[in-house]
Amino acid sequence: MALLEIRNLHARIEDKEILKGVNLTVNAGEVHAIMGPNGSGKSTLASVLAGREDYEVTEGEVLYDGKNLLEMEPDERAREGVFLAFQYPVELPGVNMATFLREALKAIREHRGLPPLGPAEFLQLLKEKAELVGLDPSLKQRSVNEGFSGGEKKRSEIFQLALLEPRLAILDETDSGLDIDALRTVADGVNRLRTPDRAFVVITHYQRLLNYIVPDYVHVMVDGRIVRSGDKNLALELEEKGYDWIREEIGFPA
Ligand code: ADP
Ligand code: MG
Ligand code: MG
Repeated sequence: MALLEIRNLHARIEDKEILKGVNLTVNAGEVHAIMGPNGSGKSTLASVLAGREDYEVTEGEVLYDGKNLLEMEPDERAREGVFLAFQYPVELPGVNMATFLREALKAIREHRGLPPLGPAEFLQLLKEKAELVGLDPSLKQRSVNEGFSGGEKKRSEIFQLALLEPRLAILDETDSGLDIDALRTVADGVNRLRTPDRAFVVITHYQRLLNYIVPDYVHVMVDGRIVRSGDKNLALELEEKGYDWIREEIGFPA
């Protein structure tokens, strides 16, 4: 059984149809990149998978581990092992990362039938994971994402991922201000956390990111559909030729 199976997914916001029949199958152990021009619906797909309320699914289905993902509340998705970087509040003034993560981890462990970690075990785990992702230890003491630089936010996101050990991680790399160090942080994190039982969907319009994360599959989204799929060479082709040739091939005006 696939870990994630998206079938003919249609979604709209207000009266505008954005997703127009997305099909995607992701198996455990795989890394999928979704690319595509600005406005093609990539972030909308991530938002629908996260369970954001503003989006209305009008057709199709999403199965996660065989279960209907669209019926689950956002926090239930997280407990079931789906990680969406932005499913967590962007900034939480006054809540430090350690406190925030202790609660998140507790909920996930509870769901897996595991007791909460004791304070010493939890600190040890934080330390291990911080080292794994090269997180500056002082970030753990600061309020969640408050005043973080773009690079620090990325590091904190990868740190959360390392700690929460999701089965499916969906990363929407929307921030056009990311410098090369931040891209490497994301890539190194994904590469270190790649395991046979975990899958990643990395949404990006930067081919550059895929120089560091070598995806198993690359998909191109245009006008609310995945119109091409291939391996890493497809990303290189896009870098060289842009998106217009795909738009032409599918008869979609640029
Ligand atoms: P991408 O991530 O590929 O750049 P998005 O999913 O952000 O694309 O946007 C897809 C389309 O949906 C765009 O035309 C965008 O203008 C529209 N859109 C996204 N969010 C909203 C919103 N909150 N209200 C109205 N239209 C939106
Ligand atoms: Mg956009
Ligand atoms: Mg986007």
